[in-house]
Amino acid sequence: MSGPVIPFIDLKSQYADLKPEIDSRIQRVLDHGQYIMGPEVRELEIALEAFTGSKHCITVASGTEALLIALMALGIGPGDEVITTPFTFVATAEVIVLLGAKPVFVDVEPDTCNIDVSKIEAAITPRTKAIMPVSLYGQVSDMDEINAIAERHGNLPVIEDAAQSFGAEYKGRKSCNVSTIGCTSFFPSKPLGCYGDGGAIFTNDDKLAEAFREIRVHGQAERYVHTRLGVGGRMDTLQCAIMLPKLEKFAWEVQQRLEIGARYNRAMDELGIQRVVQRADRTSVYAQYTVLVDDRAAFQTHMQQLGVPTAVHYPVPLNQQPAYAHLCCPDCTPVAASLAKRVTSLPMHAYLDTALQNRVVEAVSAGKI
Ligand SMILES: *Cc1c(COP(=O)(O)O)cnc(C)c1O
Repeated sequence: MSGPVIPFIDLKSQYADLKPEIDSRIQRVLDHGQYIMGPEVRELEIALEAFTGSKHCITVASGTEALLIALMALGIGPGDEVITTPFTFVATAEVIVLLGAKPVFVDVEPDTCNIDVSKIEAAITPRTKAIMPVSLYGQVSDMDEINAIAERHGNLPVIEDAAQSFGAEYKGRKSCNVSTIGCTSFFPSKPLGCYGDGGAIFTNDDKLAEAFREIRVHGQAERYVHTRLGVGGRMDTLQCAIMLPKLEKFAWEVQQRLEIGARYNRAMDELGIQRVVQRADRTSVYAQYTVLVDDRAAFQTHMQQLGVPTAVHYPVPLNQQPAYAHLCCPDCTPVAASLAKRVTSLPMHAYLDTALQNRVVEAVSAGKI
């Protein structure tokens, strides 16, 4: 059952698979030398617009930068509130606080770990300026219901934190194109990653798209004309070039992830291991494949002894983090608090072959407590 340590994610196999295409794309950038806003930047944006069906894609320096620029374009600042989930990576709330606004944390569903839509309306106040659901582990939240709530409350903008869900679908629509704004990350370990930092913002709104483009380059409308406050938030030409061949292979990778996810689901259900649930009307890209265990420390030690790495996303809800606890009640999201103690992610990537999948399942089976 044991053997060499299984990679939690496997960027080397992916590179080996695409080496000639990636190497020649990199060489082309070195030859033309336009390292900032070279032709590959717009080429990638056009390919991402086609993939998502979104009218506008604006590449940016990271997923965090995408969220920050989205909030800046909406004019969010001191005194404003943004509704989001505490069960996410810190960047989701960080950008809200950076702008002087307040994150209002709404609890999550116990089975999907995504924001609990039935609790959103009670959190809306006259200061609410946006709703920011997170498509956690690669699965989009109940977006139709969220969009309907937003519309009922003065057309609040809805920002999907799609950092983990690029490639996922919701009722036939692609993640990043299911709300006012979609923000994703191309951090190497995300479902679609580059070889450094990168991200993108998506919208069908022309005015917002223009604002994103300006804010990305220091609020510049034309050279040395700064019409608004901005940031240095561009994505490197080299990273865009690297992503072009990766995007061509991505549909195959998503298919692999779906098959592995379905296989894991069947195995966990047979073993009676609790797991994150996927809704029937959407497909997760399984940015993480996550199970719920009561004695996580013992489970992780057991898995590690069998050469199967595990990870925790995330051990502490953001409203219990030292930097955020004062902003809200740290114990008003009991579901998130309980999930944080139990969630454990298993190895998941497109290059995880059947033999490795078997080893993961057998290790979980042997470690059933
Ligand atoms: C990764 C991640 C981010 C941040 O993306 P970076 O590219 O690392 O800045 C934001 N939100 C969520 C939910 C993430 O998983």
